[in-house]
Amino acid sequence: MAVKPGKVVVITAPSGAGKTTIAKKLLNEIPKLVFSVSGTTRPPRSGEVHGKDYYFLSRKEFDRYIEEGEFIEWEEFYNGTRYGTLRSDVESHREKGYFVLFDVEVNGAVSLKNVFGSDCITLFIKAPDLQTLENRLKSRGTESEQTLELRLERAKMEIEQAQKFDYVVVNDDFEKAYARVKSIVDTFMNS
Ligand code: 5GP
Repeated sequence: MAVKPGKVVVITAPSGAGKTTIAKKLLNEIPKLVFSVSGTTRPPRSGEVHGKDYYFLSRKEFDRYIEEGEFIEWEEFYNGTRYGTLRSDVESHREKGYFVLFDVEVNGAVSLKNVFGSDCITLFIKAPDLQTLENRLKSRGTESEQTLELRLERAKMEIEQAQKFDYVVVNDDFEKAYARVKSIVDTFMNS
């Protein structure tokens, strides 16, 4: 019997809003959900693993994937750093019946919704306010003064787009925000 193709869950937010922590917990708790590993030209942070967190690509490799039509969507930001969703990974998971979870910035989330339509839900995770976002980014310790500024600038633009998504979840309390996201995803996966 043919396997019913899995659907798509997209989590988006400005960096620092807590979406990656939420995404990782969902992946731990829902066996039928797998992560779409993106390609990026940014260097790995300490502890990040090639093929698990990202495929870390040179600019040349990234350009080749673009030419070959390997990206469903891609975006360039932060001093020319590029991020993109790899088609072959996503398709092979879905064909096996897995649901695929995406952790992408807002333009990518809009593109994915356009591609997958009703097979897709989009969730926007919002930090309670910009100051909290800035504090979280600083305490993460991954940003230079310059990339911190760029991320905050971009965050302002991203927050203005929150209404484009199916659900907006405010992350003022992690456990509460997570419980809300989990319940939305469970309902979607069982519908
Ligand atoms: P970071 O450098 O913090 O890992 O990621 C920066 C931003 O890029 C985050 O908002 C992350 O979700 C987003 N991102 C990661 N992969 C992709 C992708 O494949 N496509 C798009 N559009 N954004 C991505």
